[in-house]
Amino acid sequence: MDLVDPFGRTIRDLRISVTDRCNFRCTYCMPVEGMQWLPRSEVLSFEEIHRLAGIFVERYGVDGIRLTGGEPTVRAHLTVLVSKLSQLRVPASSASPFAGGKPNLALTTNGATFRLIAHELRDAGLDRVNISLDTLQADRFIEMTRRDELFRVLDGIEAAKEAGFSPVKINAVVQRGVNDEEVVDLARFGRDRGGEVRFIEVMPLDAEGGWNRQQVLSQDEIVATIDAVFPLEQMPARGAAPADRFRYCDGGGVIGVIPSVTRPFCADCDRVRLTADGQFRTCLFETREFDLRGLLRAGATDDEVAAEIERAVGTKWAGHQIGQVNFIRPKRSMSQIGG
Ligand code: SAM
Repeated sequence: MDLVDPFGRTIRDLRISVTDRCNFRCTYCMPVEGMQWLPRSEVLSFEEIHRLAGIFVERYGVDGIRLTGGEPTVRAHLTVLVSKLSQLRVPASSASPFAGGKPNLALTTNGATFRLIAHELRDAGLDRVNISLDTLQADRFIEMTRRDELFRVLDGIEAAKEAGFSPVKINAVVQRGVNDEEVVDLARFGRDRGGEVRFIEVMPLDAEGGWNRQQVLSQDEIVATIDAVFPLEQMPARGAAPADRFRYCDGGGVIGVIPSVTRPFCADCDRVRLTADGQFRTCLFETREFDLRGLLRAGATDDEVAAEIERAVGTKWAGHQIGQVNFIRPKRSMSQIGG
């Protein structure tokens, strides 16, 4: 049975945050210090994640799972979780390209320690990886992440390629007056290294509430800046994927842009989210969460958990309201929700 929201969108993609902790402190995501970490007892165990993921995949035909955080690689034994999720099966009766097989498993990471586990994650069944990289300049990297780890992130990208991930996607959040002058350099990096750079408009999910619209470098600006140096053409519509994709006219590869602020793609959204503490969310910007961990720990049956999931999906809204007067920031910031 499909999980369909009130606007007729079928849920296919589940983002699971495996931890709220992170080894970076990116300015647009976390404060320099003072984060209140979840107590370990509140974080879902691998068994709990596997059980919930099983309901989404095997009951509702969700065929894509992305592990995120916080920084997912700081969670010990992440490979064990990937192996467990690899054993799930999308129903053979589903219309999904993954019908009868395992769901497509992806990871979003800052890449700093990825070399240590790239091969074992691949062997465990991880299909895709996105590595975040906002700047190629060492000083700016320290300013933006508050860590001196650029060389390790670059090495993590190489390790991902060596382990067989293809293409490795590079997530770059661009902010006016911070790293916007590097848009072309980042595009060139992707062309030279065979990676697909995905430029992300900065969203109001920073921990300190400092976001403002002037910081947002829009999709139109990003594309025009790159197009002036490396001509681009837009690729066919993206379906439910968040990125608009453009290819270089000279065959130099592809870029993506995630225009959450200037061109929200809510009408095609097929995503739902599970936070590290087992709260179910139907949108990154939702203010309401549904407590699946509480149900699991109270001994609920799969049918009871599924009924709560259906109730929650029944509240999925048509779209978020960033930039409009009625927009309410969610209480939790990006690292606490899971990006
Ligand atoms: N730690 C991992 C990483 O760095 O990729 C995974 C979690 S992180 C929250 C996931 C993605 O969200 C990263 O690409 C990050 O740059 C992006 N992100 C975080 N805060 C953001 C914001 N305020 N606006 C847009 N993207 C943001």
